[in-house]
Amino acid sequence: MIIVLKPGCKEEEIKAVVEKVEELGFKAHTIVGVERTVIGAVGDERGKARLQSLQALSCVENVVPILKPYKLASREFKSEPTVVKVGDAAFGGDFFGVIAGPCSVESEKQIVDTAIRVKEAGARMLRGGAFKPRTSPYAFQGLEEEGLKLLAAARKESGLPFVTEVINPEDVELVGEYADMLQIGARNVQNFPLLRRVGRFGKPVLLKRGMSTTIQEFLMSAEYILSEGAKDLILCERGIRTFETATRNTLDISAIPVIQEQSHLPIIIDPSHATGARRYVAPLCFAAMACGADGLIVEVHPEPEKALCDGPQSLRIEEFKKIMENLARLSEFNGKKL
Ligand code: PEP
Ligand code: MN
Repeated sequence: MIIVLKPGCKEEEIKAVVEKVEELGFKAHTIVGVERTVIGAVGDERGKARLQSLQALSCVENVVPILKPYKLASREFKSEPTVVKVGDAAFGGDFFGVIAGPCSVESEKQIVDTAIRVKEAGARMLRGGAFKPRTSPYAFQGLEEEGLKLLAAARKESGLPFVTEVINPEDVELVGEYADMLQIGARNVQNFPLLRRVGRFGKPVLLKRGMSTTIQEFLMSAEYILSEGAKDLILCERGIRTFETATRNTLDISAIPVIQEQSHLPIIIDPSHATGARRYVAPLCFAAMACGADGLIVEVHPEPEKALCDGPQSLRIEEFKKIMENLARLSEFNGKKL
């Protein structure tokens, strides 16, 4: 349910409503808007009628149900787009944030060089996996904590904040100690204990869509994170599994307008994992910008032929630079700030 307060409500009045909501056994999520404040009351649906009685309070304008199964992630709860800021990077609203870096951290030189060079090209954030969710147990699994330390060194050298994946609920504190944003990968989109733990941690989160999750299921996963108190959440479409085998996955470009209609959360595109092939990455970056996405996450490697993971889909630095130049031109048409 959403409790819509009257314009100009005082802080004490808002606090009193929050207390009432909590007394009724619900969690209260407050959004202070420019014009008015709304309080989302989330909890056991059976207590709805009791919430409705709050309508009697003088500062309450209306108590209305949220019809979608996801509540805090919905546009009904928050009509304004959410802008997530991490350092100088911004995603959502008028902002188009670009995250770039290798699939996995391999060495200090590799990650520091990449960070400096993608920053020069215009990236606002660095990516790099330290804990890798690999299909094969025999494939490179990442440098783990050593990888986190190297990412921190790359941040220091380049000034770029970084996002890195956490695959295990027990590692959230460790990864969160280093990272500026925590990534939940496609394979963990419905790992509910992990979603909850990351949601409680308090740092920004990048949630990838699973290869077989519907948009509704994806938004339900986002709801898990928000229900634990997180506010800075970015969604990422990274390709879904279809009958097509020419690309690694099929980029669901229509997820951009659909998600922007249903949710206030920023939605970015990962064309690298969507296609699995370097030569298809640039056209999909431009498609994402043209379609109104809120940013990109792309794999870039200084020497893709030597990459320990996902080399064939990783852009060379020069290719990434060219993409950034063309994105800047495209952004003049749709008003997004790169
Ligand atoms: C990644 O971004 O490193 C990754 C493993 O992607 P995904 O979870 O989308 O497969
Ligand atoms: Mn990868």
